[in-house]
Amino acid sequence: MAGNLIIGGGVYGAAVAFELASRGVNCHLVEAKHIGAGASSGPGRRGVRANGRDPRELPLVRQARTIWSSLHELLGVAPLFERTGHVLLIERERDLLEAEARVKLQDQMGIPSELVKGEGVRDYEPQVSSHVRAAIVCPGDGVADHTATTNAYAAAAAAAGAVVEEAVPVVRLVIKRDRVIAVETDTGSHIQVENNLFILANSAVRGLLTGYADLPVRNMPFQVLLSKPLGNVPVRHLVGHAHRTLALKAEPGERVMISGGRAGRWDEERQVGEVVDQEVAANIADAVKVYPSLQDIEIEIADAGHLEAVSIDNVPIIDRLPGLSNVKIATGWSGHGWAIAPSVAKLLVDWALEGQRPPLLAPFALTRFGR
Ligand SMILES: Cc1cc2nc3c(=O)[nH]c(=O)nc-3n(C[C@H](O)[C@H](O)[C@H](O)COP(=O)(O)OP(=O)(O)OC[C@H]3O[C@@H](n4cnc5c(N)ncnc54)[C@H](O)[C@@H]3O)c2cc1C
Repeated sequence: MAGNLIIGGGVYGAAVAFELASRGVNCHLVEAKHIGAGASSGPGRRGVRANGRDPRELPLVRQARTIWSSLHELLGVAPLFERTGHVLLIERERDLLEAEARVKLQDQMGIPSELVKGEGVRDYEPQVSSHVRAAIVCPGDGVADHTATTNAYAAAAAAAGAVVEEAVPVVRLVIKRDRVIAVETDTGSHIQVENNLFILANSAVRGLLTGYADLPVRNMPFQVLLSKPLGNVPVRHLVGHAHRTLALKAEPGERVMISGGRAGRWDEERQVGEVVDQEVAANIADAVKVYPSLQDIEIEIADAGHLEAVSIDNVPIIDRLPGLSNVKIATGWSGHGWAIAPSVAKLLVDWALEGQRPPLLAPFALTRFGR
């Protein structure tokens, strides 16, 4: 019997378990494989970025950045977050007007940002190509070690009293009237649910809800490239791009990580992802366009083994499941769910314990799709 049951041991499941357990609330987390088996682990680090985000997510990321700076102290581990600042590069004249509006909006929403033009960009990123005509700089952004964070959340949850079980795949929800009363695992055993059920299994949420709801999400195995050590690491900040599918960050060991939203190919039968050569080449070509000194870059790791649910409007779905009064779901992170995890986990637990949807979560309701 679980008072509160959590399905999924990624950052969301682990952080919700930590929030519940550290408030003295009984909870049980079940993970199909091992903690961090999904999108919350893998090569490199994850960006913690407010810059360029959908305006609906800005209040969440603002709150999350405050938590990120001292999260390691809360979880009792070495620092997890590095404040590098984010630089969003602009090459096209036509992107400047939007950039000006965005800087104003981010500033108004408590996320200090600056538009730098011409040679001013080189003060931040000295090796950037002369094609780059401007950049939005957001000094409060940074990067976090996702694998270490997810494991630290799960360990801290267990230390605070949560039951954390690995190798327990949930295959079915057992429903009575308007509540999930138990979940069935792959061995046919049932875990009873007394209070809340949090379905936080990212790419598996849609499948678990088959027959109850059809979420407008699809799964994508996002690609990450990690270079071999470079003599010269040209990237100083967490870097994004206004029109290229490109993100760059400096990684320990004089490496550069190239990502930004290109995807590999997913083998549904074997449940593994592999990179697609053309996508790897295109990601590198974009990186070289903005940092010409990367032209001889050699890739050590090319990974597309981590599935992410992407929603049709590219912002997450965080809601109570209609018709099932004790179920909360969160998925559809669309490639940027990492940064906001500490804040969303807190708010989900506030909602479950206090019964009122926190206003910051209102934009992520299923009703936006007319349901
Ligand atoms: C390559 C890549 C790069 C990214 N870069 C960034 C970035 O720079 N910044 C950013 O903000 N975000 C980024 N993201 C997104 C971010 O990493 C994810 O949104 C976040 O980690 C999702 O966490 P989660 O806990 O919801 O999902 P996951 O980490 O996927 O965890 C879900 C867990 O549920 C388990 N599970 C599945 N089915 C079941 C079942 N039936 N029973 C029990 N357990 C089950 C899985 O095994 C898995 O461990 C990136 C994602 C990827 C893939």
